Amino acid sequence: MKTDDPTRWGVTSLRLQRPEHVYFDGAVRPWQDASFHVSTEAVVRGLNVFEGLKGHWQVNGQFAWRTLQRHYERMRRSARLLHIPVDFSYQQFEDAVFAITRAELIREKDLYVRATLFVVAGHYGEGTVADLVLTAYRQETTPPAPITAGVSTWRRSPDVSMPARIKTSTNYQIARLARIEGKSRGYQDMILLNQAGRVAEGIGACLLLVRDGRVYTPPTWEGALESITLEMITELAASTGIEVVRRPIDRSELYIADEIGLTGTLAEITRVSQMDDFALPDETPILSKLAQRYRDAITGVDPHPAMEMSPLVEAPVG
Ligand code: PMP
Repeated sequence: MKTDDPTRWGVTSLRLQRPEHVYFDGAVRPWQDASFHVSTEAVVRGLNVFEGLKGHWQVNGQFAWRTLQRHYERMRRSARLLHIPVDFSYQQFEDAVFAITRAELIREKDLYVRATLFVVAGHYGEGTVADLVLTAYRQETTPPAPITAGVSTWRRSPDVSMPARIKTSTNYQIARLARIEGKSRGYQDMILLNQAGRVAEGIGACLLLVRDGRVYTPPTWEGALESITLEMITELAASTGIEVVRRPIDRSELYIADEIGLTGTLAEITRVSQMDDFALPDETPILSKLAQRYRDAITGVDPHPAMEMSPLVEAPVG
C-alpha cells in the first residue's frame, strides 16, 4: 500500500516546493524576506487564521480563481471569532492574490495559495495587529486519484474547546497527529470522529458518503469546517438531480457505504477506495459523476452559476 504520495490531491507536495516569492507586509517580496519576530503571537501561540485557495487554468486559456469572495468572508469570520482585526477590503484581498499569482504562475501548473493572517503585534487581545501573507504553490492540473483512509483515534475538539469552524493553524495540530497515525497504519488520509464518536470530517476535507443514490455529509455542528466546496457540490448535485443531505453519520456507516469521498478546495472530490479494513465498491457512479461535473465547472468546460470564478484579466505568464 502506498503510504506517502507526494502528488496527492494534485499537490506537488508543498514541503518539496520553495517558491521565489511571497506576499508579505503589503507587497510581493523575495521568499527569504518574510519573517516574524520570535516574540509575536503568530510564533508564540501559533495565532493566525488562514484560507486555502485554488486557481485553475480554463479551457479558454485564462487562469481563474475559485470563490475568492467566499474565502475572504470565511477568513473574516475566523478572524472575528479570534478577535483578530481585518483591515483590508475584499478588493485589496483579490489584488493581493492576483499579485502573487502573476509572480508564481506558469502555463503548465495550477496554483494553490495559502492566505494566512498572522498576528504580528499585540498580546492576549490587546493591541492585536495582523499581516496578510500569501504563499503560492504549483499544482498538477489533473484531478486527484482515489485514496485509502482510516478512522483516527484522535478526535475533533468540541465547539466549546476549539471550534472547528475557525480555520486556524492550531486546529490542525490534531490533523497532524492523525496524519502521522495514518501513515504508520498505511493510510493516505484519516477521518476524525467527534467527541460522541460520530464522523466529523477528514483532516483537510469534508466527508461525502453515498447510500442508495443519496449523498450524506455531517453538519457543521458535528465538528466539520464550514466548507465552501461542499456548498458548491450541493448546488452542482442539485442541478444534476442528486440530493446532498446533511445529517449525523455513524462510524459503522463508513464501512457499509456504497461510495465515500472527501471534498474540499484541494480534494475536489477524492474517492476513497478503502476505509480501515473494509474495501469499498469499485464502482462509484454518484461521486464519479459529481467529480466530473465539478471539474467541468472549475475548468470552464461547463460553467455553473454557483462556481464563482475570478479570471486574471491580463495575460499573466510566459
Ligand atoms: N475541513 C477541513 C479541516 C479543511 O482543512 C478543509 C479545507 N479547507 C475542508 C474541510 C474543506 O473546506 P473547503 O471546501 O472550504 O476547502
